Amino acid sequence: MAKVVVLGAGISGHTAVSYLSKSLKKDHEVVMISPNSNFQWVPSNIWVGVGLMTTDQVKFELAPVYKKMGVIHKQALAVAINPEGDLEHEKGFVTIKYVSKDKKDIEEKVTYDYLINATGPKLNFEATEGLGPQKFTESVCTYDHASHAWAKLEASLKKMEQGEPQTFLIGTGHPMATCQGAAFEYVLNIAFEINKRKLNHLADLWWITNEYELGDFGMGGAYVKRNGYITPTKIFTESILKEYGVKWIKQAGVKKVEKGVVHYETLDGKLDSKAFDFAMLIPGFSGVDMNAFDKQGNDITKIVFAANGMMKVDADYNLKPYEEWKAKDWPLIYQSSTYKNIYAAGIAFAPPHAMSKPMQSPNGTKIFPTPPRTGMPSGVIGKIVAQNIIHQIKTGKDDHPHQASMAKMGAACIVSAGYGFTKGQAAVMTVKPIVPDWETYPKWGRNIDDTVGVVGTAGHWMKLFMHYMFIYKAKAKPFWWLIPE
Ligand SMILES: Cc1cc2nc3c(=O)[nH]c(=O)nc-3n(C[C@H](O)[C@H](O)[C@H](O)COP(=O)(O)OP(=O)(O)OC[C@H]3O[C@@H](n4cnc5c(N)ncnc54)[C@H](O)[C@@H]3O)c2cc1C
Repeated sequence: MAKVVVLGAGISGHTAVSYLSKSLKKDHEVVMISPNSNFQWVPSNIWVGVGLMTTDQVKFELAPVYKKMGVIHKQALAVAINPEGDLEHEKGFVTIKYVSKDKKDIEEKVTYDYLINATGPKLNFEATEGLGPQKFTESVCTYDHASHAWAKLEASLKKMEQGEPQTFLIGTGHPMATCQGAAFEYVLNIAFEINKRKLNHLADLWWITNEYELGDFGMGGAYVKRNGYITPTKIFTESILKEYGVKWIKQAGVKKVEKGVVHYETLDGKLDSKAFDFAMLIPGFSGVDMNAFDKQGNDITKIVFAANGMMKVDADYNLKPYEEWKAKDWPLIYQSSTYKNIYAAGIAFAPPHAMSKPMQSPNGTKIFPTPPRTGMPSGVIGKIVAQNIIHQIKTGKDDHPHQASMAKMGAACIVSAGYGFTKGQAAVMTVKPIVPDWETYPKWGRNIDDTVGVVGTAGHWMKLFMHYMFIYKAKAKPFWWLIPE
């Protein structure tokens, strides 16, 4: 009997565990370790952040679902990995921590034959002084953050209804933050809500970003087919912001936040600040705090994980000039570069390099977005990692028939810009591949037939449909596996 342990019940880990349990539960053991008792459909947190969905609409309890799936569920935080075991344990194990029912701090070692690290990002608010819901800015990265953001936003909207002007600042809260898409979606939804209440004359709406040009989105921008023309995402994004009355500050690395004011440096080395009444700024992402030890107990964290705390996998991490980066540097199977029975899925794997050109100010501040790993690739990676483990357990072979390079697969990003069956809109962007490949596609960097941008009501319906469809799938309801990632 083999034992597969998955860390993190997010989009990637939950997808992996669903496929593992479907194929292995009769004869093998599947264990999920995750600190939150709920699954959350993160993309819909945007709607929680503008008061259009409740937190209950974007989350559900995991325990009954894992009971149905036959998955052993431990609500705990993984803090260390011993891939070689130790003097007491022959096998690799994970050290987990949780608080027992009688309120005692428990530490437990969970052994495994295969381990999937799908712990997602650490929301690194500490990397920017004054950032985050505990300090002076809001976030929509979790449902709790989004609900906090809505309470603050609602207060601002009420002030406007009483005639008081408000400044809104939305974007990235660290010089190397990613996830521009989520912040972009949020600013458009705020603009829509302000417009709906006919308060535009009192609103000063700003987008602040570390991108060199708008529409970079951490993927080096893209050329998209739009209404029969090829348009750079810079134009696509700028025109949408203009239409929604949003002004922008670009090439900006936010370094510090104080009550009502953000301090930032721009790529030309200038220091500036922007006052706000409401700010939602995405923090920098790093890997979660997990250490690794060898059999003798020596700390091997720096071997197993990259400097940003994300796990090193089958990618080319050799340092080389930007011009020499290749699509094939990106991983295919997400197997740990050091231990063959460990995999890192979703945001937990360390990307080999940025997709956007690295930029630095004259003061030495790096200001550019790190690569995004959106929901679709995170789900697909979770699935193929599970499929390869299932294959290895069932055949006894150690090959990997399933691959999912981000330099080959496509992704769709739907940025809602308002809500409602007839009034909702969305900007839909598909790119293929996600990582630009200038060797295969010398003209546009991507397959231009599959790289498309459109704005309209249909996209909004699609986003809403996806909300219900993916929650249905995550609940493992009948025929869930027919729904693609
Ligand atoms: C507001 C917002 C909107 C977004 N909208 C979209 C969208 O429209 N489309 C899209 O494609 N993508 C979107 N994304 C991105 C998408 O949500 C991520 O790509 C996806 O959630 C990544 O999946 P993951 O499984 O790697 O990480 P996560 O979903 O973050 O899951 C990580 C899991 O690991 C758990 N964990 C953390 N630490 C530990 C530990 N030490 N031990 C055990 N478990 C741990 C966490 O509790 C969590 O359950 C959005 C992101 C945000 C923040």
